[in-house]
Amino acid sequence: MNPSGAAPDNFRAIDLIRKKRDGQELTGPEINHFIHGYTSGDIPDYQASVWLMAGLLKGFTRAETAALTDAMLRSGEVLDLSDFSAAKVDKHSTGGVGDKTSLVLAPLVAAGGLIVPMISGRGLGHTGGTLDKLESIPGFNVNLPVAKFREVLHRCGCAMIGQTSEIAPADRKLYALRDVTATVESPYLICASIMSKKLAEGIDALVLDVKTGSGAFMKKEEDAAFLAQLMVETGERMGKKVVALITDMDQPLGAAAGNALEVVEVLDVLRGAGPQDLRELCVELAAWMFHLGAVSPDLARGKELSAKLLASGQAMHKFGEMIELQGGDRRILDNSSLLPRAAHTLEVTSAHTGVIKGMNCEALGTATVVLGGGRAKKEDTVDPSVGLTVHKKIGDRVQAGEPLCTIHYNAESLAYRAQKLIAESYQIADTAPPTKPLVRRVISA
Ligand code: URA
Repeated sequence: MNPSGAAPDNFRAIDLIRKKRDGQELTGPEINHFIHGYTSGDIPDYQASVWLMAGLLKGFTRAETAALTDAMLRSGEVLDLSDFSAAKVDKHSTGGVGDKTSLVLAPLVAAGGLIVPMISGRGLGHTGGTLDKLESIPGFNVNLPVAKFREVLHRCGCAMIGQTSEIAPADRKLYALRDVTATVESPYLICASIMSKKLAEGIDALVLDVKTGSGAFMKKEEDAAFLAQLMVETGERMGKKVVALITDMDQPLGAAAGNALEVVEVLDVLRGAGPQDLRELCVELAAWMFHLGAVSPDLARGKELSAKLLASGQAMHKFGEMIELQGGDRRILDNSSLLPRAAHTLEVTSAHTGVIKGMNCEALGTATVVLGGGRAKKEDTVDPSVGLTVHKKIGDRVQAGEPLCTIHYNAESLAYRAQKLIAESYQIADTAPPTKPLVRRVISA
């Protein structure tokens, strides 16, 4: 096969479209030529669109999914971090509401001796994005060139940036096309999209946090498990250690949703405090990272190490180092009033007495977007100060008139829209619902 991916003279995109339409398996070279042809502009959007739709409808085999991931990964630069002696380990979440674990994990795991080269994304739909949260820290630069990214990694063991134009350009182009052709939802395409970007980081191991529930993209646990299995198998085929945790997103993680509010909660966890569910998930994910990175022989010792690094302040110190190296104001560590703060607050109170039976977590994420904490359109700018503090979660008792949630806002009309969404999202009953574990299951090869 031509390693550049350039197709032979007799290659025709229409033949691959027909083959996929008819449910036949494509070969690795065929997929490689297609991806290369689309990225270089030789294959037009209209042919790529129908090929994606044929793929969404017919599915892909495991070999096709791996070939697709590999072709997308090789469409750009693959970081070579072989000069680091410690293992390179990352974590990726499929996205949720109040999911701020990356900001805790990068410094926590680096404090334990591993290298964490994190390339993250912005908010997508109702879900928050790591880059938007980081940018609420005054001065923090997520747009480092690769050379500077490496320097930060060398100096403190972790660095957090956005996708550069050199990393997996095929995904960037295909994702934009999928977004407007109703082909985002294919688990095979999601797998190739996520794994191509993560494997381009030059990592040895990856922990996947696949969210399920009303605030996740995969609402049903079996869909989340299918995607998780696909990503684990694809990673293993490509020689990486991968484990996936299916975790709860029926309610926000922690209490804060909204960029600067979430950074304050991250600081609480790094101080050894913070909401119990967020702390528990951070310790669990860090333990898996330590285990895959061979720092701890088992999960129990990984958890012990994580708890120790939080209690001793070493993880917090590492966060300060990374903030400073990326141009941010590390004084936020001791003075969170330096973070952006919304001008006003508004309580959403309960109309009934009872127990919280459930909530529409996606609606809570949408309320944060409505306030300006996310983007309704690609070109929108994010207001880092707005968001929600959730006071009542599933299983909590509530009295009529008691606050369910505080809205932090700058524009009154938006606050009222958010208030309606939040009030309608809570379901209150007489009896408590059965409790569900935060980590539903673990999928490994
Ligand atoms: N996130 C990604 O990076 N890609 C997808 O396809 C879906 C979610």
